[in-house]
Amino acid sequence: MSWQQRISLALTERREKQQFRQRCVSQQGDVRTIRVNDRGYLNFSSNDYLGLSRDARVIAAWQQGAERYGVGAGGSGHVTGYGAPHQEVERELAEWLGYPRALLFISGFAANQAIIAAMMQKNDCIFADRLAHASLLEAASLSPAALRRFAHNQPEALAKLLAGSADVGETLVVTEGIFSMDGDSAPLAELHQLTLRHNSWLMVDDAHGIGVTGEQGRGSCWQQKVQPELLVVTFGKAFGLSGAAVLCSEETADYLLQFARHLIYSTAMPPAQACALQAALHAVQQGDDLRARLQHNISLFRKGAAELGLELLPSATAIQPLLVGEEPRALELAERLREKGCWVTAIRPPTVPTGTARLRITLSAAHREEDILCLLEALDDANS
Ligand SMILES: *Cc1c(COP(=O)(O)O)cnc(C)c1O
Repeated sequence: MSWQQRISLALTERREKQQFRQRCVSQQGDVRTIRVNDRGYLNFSSNDYLGLSRDARVIAAWQQGAERYGVGAGGSGHVTGYGAPHQEVERELAEWLGYPRALLFISGFAANQAIIAAMMQKNDCIFADRLAHASLLEAASLSPAALRRFAHNQPEALAKLLAGSADVGETLVVTEGIFSMDGDSAPLAELHQLTLRHNSWLMVDDAHGIGVTGEQGRGSCWQQKVQPELLVVTFGKAFGLSGAAVLCSEETADYLLQFARHLIYSTAMPPAQACALQAALHAVQQGDDLRARLQHNISLFRKGAAELGLELLPSATAIQPLLVGEEPRALELAERLREKGCWVTAIRPPTVPTGTARLRITLSAAHREEDILCLLEALDDANS
């Protein structure tokens, strides 16, 4: 088989399974709305939970940072790419979340890849929640360690795996704080008790919890009073930017600086972005009113959906998936909602397990009450 044949075969298979993915061009938007093919929609697909991507303070910090430091870091952090803005925001993050150290990464995907690759060796074992994010599972399966997945949010299932791991090397338990496709929270205290008992480490990816939940938006771990050995927070969601950080001990940070290749062989985050990140962090810390507005929108939506008899997953977070089941039905529903001016994404396998296609509705503090009511009405129409 030639390269051409391999590629066209793979594409044909995707098309036949109706799993062909295409991007659409978003022409403009203001968090609340999105414009595609010259038509405006209410946007219920963004992870910008607090609306900070358009926050005037954050934009100004980025602009001032660019004027002062230029637009690029000019090198890896190990060469000349690590500047005062990076150092300051790392210090503030560590202090805010109660850890000795924080290290910035260019993205959450990169952070997960880098950490798992640097930590895991042959004979080690990763125990991951079955629904953990692709960036975690992908990193785990690429690592020399064995990967075992445990039933979603079932500490008893993890306990069995840990009990049987006496003769392997080090073990790392991996979970999300709030699950990206389901919106539910991990039982972090129970998971951490288990890892402590078995000399294992816990790694929590709190991409969807940070900024949104816990006192001052400190996330799922703070809320559940758990301090995992490795906490990954990302800035592409509630922070409205992009990038990520790992929170850890002094020694773990020094270790990652030696062995995490994404930190060594990749250009550092632009310093202007680190300036914007610091402004976003302050906005998150002072964001109780934004979080209250988001909570209000969540309650309004769930109450309305219950009245309409819609089957929502049990999520108290900004992620409100509507379980549909079969893919064609999910695609059709998403299309109908678009006709009514609501942009909602259908999430299909392989992103979620077969037979659990869903509409992933995300709410933001930027939505107004009338937007939520409009979505509910569109859902009611589309379903009938
Ligand atoms: C979005 C997401 C990531 C990836 O983060 P990026 O910064 O977008 O690369 C990692 N983990 C989870 C759980 C996510 O939802």
